[in-house]
Amino acid sequence: MLYGVKDLRVEDVETPKVGSGEVLVRVKAATTCGTDLKIFQRGYVEKVIKLPTVFGHEWAGDVVEVGEGLEWPRKGMRVRAGNSAPCLHCFMCSKGKYNLCENMIWLWGAYAEYIKVPAHMVLVNMQEIPPHISYEEAAITEPLACVLHGIEEARVKMGDCVAIIGAGPIGLLHLLTVKKMGAEKVIMTDLVDERLEFAKKLGADETINAGKENIEEAVRKATGGYGADIVIEAIGQPATWEQALRLVRKGGTVLEFGGCPPGTKVQFNTEQLHYGETIVLGTFHATPIHFRKALNLIASKTINVAPLITRRMPLEKIGEAFEVLATSKKEIKIAIQP
Ligand SMILES: [Zn+2]
Ligand SMILES: [Zn+2]
Repeated sequence: MLYGVKDLRVEDVETPKVGSGEVLVRVKAATTCGTDLKIFQRGYVEKVIKLPTVFGHEWAGDVVEVGEGLEWPRKGMRVRAGNSAPCLHCFMCSKGKYNLCENMIWLWGAYAEYIKVPAHMVLVNMQEIPPHISYEEAAITEPLACVLHGIEEARVKMGDCVAIIGAGPIGLLHLLTVKKMGAEKVIMTDLVDERLEFAKKLGADETINAGKENIEEAVRKATGGYGADIVIEAIGQPATWEQALRLVRKGGTVLEFGGCPPGTKVQFNTEQLHYGETIVLGTFHATPIHFRKALNLIASKTINVAPLITRRMPLEKIGEAFEVLATSKKEIKIAIQP
């Protein structure tokens, strides 16, 4: 079942009571994410989120209450957690595929003054934030974790030429990460010039406006006629999933990262996969290890996520924030401050 969610309201809800093993956090910053925007614009699959609900899933804050039986965290500690916690004992978890856990616990509700972290999530996916990074930077741990997982699976190597479709927050996080991993050339495509300008500032070597240029020709030209070693789709539309296959070199890898609308299908050329040995892979979400790694990379400034936060708005203006995100050419991530 799919719901449309145009009805976004700020309402008073009761402050959650903490039970044994649970932790209550005062949210200090919650960043906006393409997933939230997708939920807002086109609804979401009922399996993951049930409506009506408080939403938002990238956040950080201060521990205000600690449930019985916990020695960690302490009251007053700066933390982030979730937005998922695998069960650690299902079939997929036993295979080490924690991101595909059959009994995943999800946590939504970051656009609020308080968020209650379930006991299992406190154990599996909550981290203390080092004092020198801001809450809003720490909130970006979640999308960066997903990006790290994707890039690991795609096996980006030093010297690779990487083409990234989409210069939104996720495309830009991919850019920052593959640059650090030694990508020799990163080509970014988008329909919006302002976004491409921004990508350039963050280190993109070449940018292509897909609305004005023939993107396949432009990528071939930039890669000596061969195509990119790795192509990352960071939009989530069937057309760009298919386009990604046309930008990759023989033996290269296509990472279909953006989640498409439910029920959609794509076509690919069988000859390309056979004679061209194209590797096509999808990745979903991240494991607790990626969350830890992501926070450490943010804390060490190995990946500087601060420039991605282009605006700050109070919680009362959450509706306006999503209008801005849906229409603005410049905003990347808005930090909501309850
Ligand atoms: Zn997110
Ligand atoms: Zn599991």
